[in-house]
Amino acid sequence: MNKLVLFDIDGTLVTGKTGHKQAFINGFKEVFGLETELDWDTVQGMTDQQIITTILLRHGFLEEEIKRKMLACLAVMEKSFQESILTSEVKILGGVVELLTNLKAKNYLLGLVTGNLIKIARIKLGKVGLWDFFDVGGFGSDDIYRSNLVKLAIQRAGEKHNFVWDKNVILFGDTPLDVKAGQEAGVATIGVTTGVHTRKNLEDIGAGAVVDSLEDTDDILKLINSIYYDDLN
Ligand SMILES: [Mg+2]
Repeated sequence: MNKLVLFDIDGTLVTGKTGHKQAFINGFKEVFGLETELDWDTVQGMTDQQIITTILLRHGFLEEEIKRKMLACLAVMEKSFQESILTSEVKILGGVVELLTNLKAKNYLLGLVTGNLIKIARIKLGKVGLWDFFDVGGFGSDDIYRSNLVKLAIQRAGEKHNFVWDKNVILFGDTPLDVKAGQEAGVATIGVTTGVHTRKNLEDIGAGAVVDSLEDTDDILKLINSIYYDDLN
C-alpha cells in the first residue's frame, strides 16, 4: 500500500439534489428556533459544523449556545437526511466509478475527507453504491476543521491498514477550502472543477494540479503517480 488517495464527496464524487440543505434548515428550526434559508453554493467546502456555526453567528447566536446545542442539531440533521433519502437524487460524477475501481484493483488505499457528518456521508454514498470503495475517512462529525479531517483519515489509515505517511497522500476536492485543508495537513492536492469553483479559484489557492473532471482514468492515474507533496514546497 504505497499511496492513500483521499476524496471530498460533494462536487467531487457526486452531485444532485439531496436533503442535505433541508437537514440544516430543519436543524436550525427545531434546535435553535431559527427559520432561515441557506445559500448552498456559498457554504461549499465548509464542514457541516462550520456551516451551522457560520449561519448561526450571522443570525446573532452566541458561540456558547451553538456549542451546547451542536449535538442536538447534528442529530436532527441526520434524522432529516435519512428521511429524505428515498426522494433524493444523488448523481455520480463522470469517471468516478472507473477511477475508484481502477485504484482499488491496484491496491491503493482510498479515503474520504468530507464536511458531511459520517451518517449523512454513508447514506448519500450508500444510495449510489460508492460507500464500500473507501477504507478510511475523516468526517464532519469528527471535527469542525477540515485540515483535522485530513489528518484523521491518515491516522486511521495507519491504525487500520498499517499505512505509513511519507509524502504519499493525495487529496481530491472541488473547493479552495479542500485545497487549503490539504496544504495545512501537508498532503498533495488535486482540484477538480466539477463543483461550483473555477480552475482559477483552485489554482489561485495553490492546488498541486487542477483537472476539469475525473473522466480520463489514465490521465488521473498518471497524475496521482507523479504528484508528491514535496513538489509543492
Ligand atoms: Mg465539495
